[in-house]
Amino acid sequence: MRVPLIAANWKMYKTVAEAVKYVKELRGLVKDLDGVEIVLAPPFTALHAAAEAARNSNVGMAAQDLYWEREGAFTGEVSGQMIREAGAEYVIVGHSERRTLFGESDATVNRKLTAALAVGLCPIGCIGETLDQRERKETFDVLDRQIRQGLDGLTSDQIGQLVIAYEPVWAIGTGRTATPQQAGEAHSHIRGRLRQWFGQEAAELCHVIYGGSVKPDNARDLMAQADIDGALVGGASLDVRGFLQIVRGARAPV
Ligand code: PEP
Repeated sequence: MRVPLIAANWKMYKTVAEAVKYVKELRGLVKDLDGVEIVLAPPFTALHAAAEAARNSNVGMAAQDLYWEREGAFTGEVSGQMIREAGAEYVIVGHSERRTLFGESDATVNRKLTAALAVGLCPIGCIGETLDQRERKETFDVLDRQIRQGLDGLTSDQIGQLVIAYEPVWAIGTGRTATPQQAGEAHSHIRGRLRQWFGQEAAELCHVIYGGSVKPDNARDLMAQADIDGALVGGASLDVRGFLQIVRGARAPV
């Protein structure tokens, strides 16, 4: 059975001091919680300090992006090895803000996913349609293209280690959440394609989590859908108490 995963994407919020304070508070609040995996993605500047503050707790760390080269003259970039050494086990790849604001494509997402897996990071690969695409009834075609091109060349074993975040672009940071039915349909479609293209075992192991205006009051209904294995939470993760409520709502029966 897939243990639900709740990941906090802090985007460009929280200083080192703010991140450490949050982690210290959260680790105390969740120390006896099982049946859920908890991951925080602070900005790069706070990653190491946050990982140190989370050491020996049940709170894991993610980076928000990586570059695919190991090292070199790539000003502003950070490699997978550097992220591992800073204390993260996960990395978000291809977030819609990276795609729309920083020109990332399915091809760059593919290189980043491959690089992350090669250094033992678990990628959280983001896919999802825009509002225009949904209204033109292209959602499933867009997801198919993002899965095919983004996951090109990965083995079934690697797919089994992956987290895919379905994040409809129109629901990110807008307060407009997909209904549990809309999200459930998209997740079943994604799981079906993974089964078709990478096999039953890979499809069963891969986590498919939902992102897009997840809040304490809608998390439980979303998470109740059969193919939703957790959430990637942006805005609502910045407040530790609100995030805790989402984490509690996602727990698998233990
Ligand atoms: C995100 O950043 O991945 C996200 C889903 O943001 P929000 O929860 O604010 O919509």
